Amino acid sequence: MINKAKTRAELLDTVAELLSRSTNAVAFTGAGISTESGIPDLSEISRILNADRQFNAGVFGMLNSRFAETSPVTFYRLYRKTFFQPKAQPNFAHTFLANLESQGKLNGIATMNIDYLHQLAGSKKVFEYWGDMRKNHCIGCHRAYDWDIIKTHSVPYCPECGHLIVPDFVMRNLATYRREVSGGQNLLRHADLLFVIGTQRSSESFSYNIPKIVVNDEVSNGIENQTVSIHGKAAEIFRQLNDLLQN
Ligand SMILES: [Zn+2]
Repeated sequence: MINKAKTRAELLDTVAELLSRSTNAVAFTGAGISTESGIPDLSEISRILNADRQFNAGVFGMLNSRFAETSPVTFYRLYRKTFFQPKAQPNFAHTFLANLESQGKLNGIATMNIDYLHQLAGSKKVFEYWGDMRKNHCIGCHRAYDWDIIKTHSVPYCPECGHLIVPDFVMRNLATYRREVSGGQNLLRHADLLFVIGTQRSSESFSYNIPKIVVNDEVSNGIENQTVSIHGKAAEIFRQLNDLLQN
């Protein structure tokens, strides 16, 4: 089918219809769902890091356990300007998904995000491929720490052994958690409808032969094959969808 330009209202009508027929929807989310909560996405993080005069190693240079250990003051200064936003609150896109789950319409979420906003919104079944920023460990005694010690100490050191505490996703050098990924893949395998929200990952990369709803501000509005693409900010789009479903 040729990609036909559609208005957002027409696309949301299609989404509402797909949702009414679905009994096992699943969401796959990336950074774009959280930008309206004040969490910078990767391109914004790159911009922040590039603008920093004392640091020129880019985002992957920063998310490196050796860098954190050898330059903890710089690491934590940059971490707080980018990934670590403990005051961020879920936006309506997170809330919509949590509500959909509590209504029994959404079977769960697989996320690339470490911001914990899905759980803060009330979502129960969330597979976090990279864990989340509440998980931290001491590099000396490997004791686990919640994010409270990161919130309250500009450079957090272990009260037990004095070594640096490092966020897990940095300590692991961005290795995904196998159990989380397989949990997410299992969700996706059984889905009858897939929301792909705020991620650059293309809908074709999900090989499942089911309807897909792609929401992000880089796609163009349209319907192609089984994929409905909606351009814009996730919170605003799901607010409109919610209004439509209420009427
Ligand atoms: Zn320790």
